[in-house]
Amino acid sequence: MKALVIKKEDLKHNIEAIKQYAKQNAEKAPTIIAVIKSNGYGLGMIDYANILMDQGINFFAVSTVEEAVSLRKAGIKEKILMLSSTSIEEEIRELIENNIILTIGSKEAGQAVEKIAKEQNKVVNVHIAIDTGFGRYGFLYQEKEELYEFLKGLQGIKIEGIFTHFSLAFFNKNEWTKEQFRRFKEIVGYLKEQKISVGIAHCSNSSAFLKFPEMNLDAVRIGSAFLGRISVENRIGLKKIGYLKSNITEIRTLPKGWNIGYSNIYQTKEEKKVAIAPVGYADGFHVKVFPDMFRFRDKVRYLVNNLKSFLKKEVLTVKINKKTYPIIGRLGMYHITIDITDQDDVHIGDEVQLEISPIYVDSNIRREYQ
Ligand SMILES: *Cc1c(COP(=O)(O)O)cnc(C)c1O
Repeated sequence: MKALVIKKEDLKHNIEAIKQYAKQNAEKAPTIIAVIKSNGYGLGMIDYANILMDQGINFFAVSTVEEAVSLRKAGIKEKILMLSSTSIEEEIRELIENNIILTIGSKEAGQAVEKIAKEQNKVVNVHIAIDTGFGRYGFLYQEKEELYEFLKGLQGIKIEGIFTHFSLAFFNKNEWTKEQFRRFKEIVGYLKEQKISVGIAHCSNSSAFLKFPEMNLDAVRIGSAFLGRISVENRIGLKKIGYLKSNITEIRTLPKGWNIGYSNIYQTKEEKKVAIAPVGYADGFHVKVFPDMFRFRDKVRYLVNNLKSFLKKEVLTVKINKKTYPIIGRLGMYHITIDITDQDDVHIGDEVQLEISPIYVDSNIRREYQ
């Protein structure tokens, strides 16, 4: 039976490595906010949150109302920050009811929160989002006087934090991230001068956390680094979390000159012994299209890489009993064919392990913590 396997020890190792690194690089260690959106990056949000808590993490962040509420329903009492600003009253009510820290990223959102806070005679905890060049949420950093006037007049609201988000921190050119950081510091400095209490300031995601310790400020928002799946240098020995497991269901012998898989792109050159496992791209295997590539040159780069891997005849592999075997023929939606010619130590029922980023693993597939 298929499952996404998560090794608890490796996960704990990563959490500790991140905590250590945070301490090393600052006079005062920044608070670690664990970002566990998107079903905990595929790890299964609740189980994952419990492991983080066991390792001393006590501040979470999510992207949707549903995620925030399901953490509370699971009995998690730690701080939860909803990273997305919303002006929809129904959503704001639900978040307040569940004691979630809201993000205010616009006047509309701020006014809606203020209205509900008054109605309920409550003080609502919020973080203020600043747009330093991401274009998604937040007050534009250059409109600082306006923001000051707006925040000064807000009632029923306690500002516990202020943050911005980087758009390119994973990239090997650093100027843009440094510029976003400069913009963020400028507006935070200005608001402080005006005696607005802004709470904790945070901007770093995993990439910035590892690359620019000077940007760690009061808190850092860590997601992908906990899974050891980062696109910057892994300088703290993070382990890759998660692999997909399936089993060998059939072992067959195919004659010379036989087609394997769709599109007839693979023909056996001699008699082959093959093993079949019911797992494929529909489970998320080998889904490596980067979702945020919109620039033409990124697309070209992607196509060139694809072409290169085709020309190099890149071979996908799996592990069975700790040994590596090649997949032959085109990858199927739910099937792979593994070449085990001349091998005697592969048997029906044996576990097959496939490298995969958990975030791509279909949420219907069982998560197995080992
Ligand atoms: C997803 C997200 C993060 C975490 O990003 P990683 O690169 O996975 O560490 C941090 N902040 C915000 C606002 C996010 O949406």
